[in-house]
Amino acid sequence: MHTSLHRQRKFVHIFLLTIWKKAILRLKMAVLPIVTGERTPILRAKTKPVSKVTKDVVTLIRDMEETTRAAKGAGLAAPQVNRSERVCIAMISKKLVPLVNPEITWRSRERETAEEGCLSLPDIWIQVPRAAEIIIQFLSAAGRQRELKLSGFDARVVQHEVDHLEGILITDHKRENIL
Ligand SMILES: [Zn+2]
Repeated sequence: MHTSLHRQRKFVHIFLLTIWKKAILRLKMAVLPIVTGERTPILRAKTKPVSKVTKDVVTLIRDMEETTRAAKGAGLAAPQVNRSERVCIAMISKKLVPLVNPEITWRSRERETAEEGCLSLPDIWIQVPRAAEIIIQFLSAAGRQRELKLSGFDARVVQHEVDHLEGILITDHKRENIL
């Protein structure tokens, strides 16, 4: 009985500690303002690769995740929150995944066209052709090298976000769409 009570107390203690840690983490996170406009310079500049996943980069990632959630977006790139690091967040398998220094290393020849919107271009919806499948390499928030093969919606979101890191917006695909 004593052991069981002890275990229960320990469990309650750990439980409270977890809630407390989560609350602190939430307090530290911030919803950042989203930059808009097709001609806004930060949205048109190429980003710079991150040399090391420092505390500052992790804070940026957490804030961008919070911002994506608040805006009900499927992804967000650093230039959209006025930053020039090669960092983005993408909805992959219905989860927000941070991608540091993402590079698309392979694109399928097969393309799919679907409608896309962008948090930086409110009320604009454009049919954008994208590679149906891609392979990406990136660093995780823990600084580990990762590789993923993606298809469908996941591949589309990542291609949209990686475009942002090159200063490309969905409106640039208009011409491609008409031809
Ligand atoms: Zn966008």
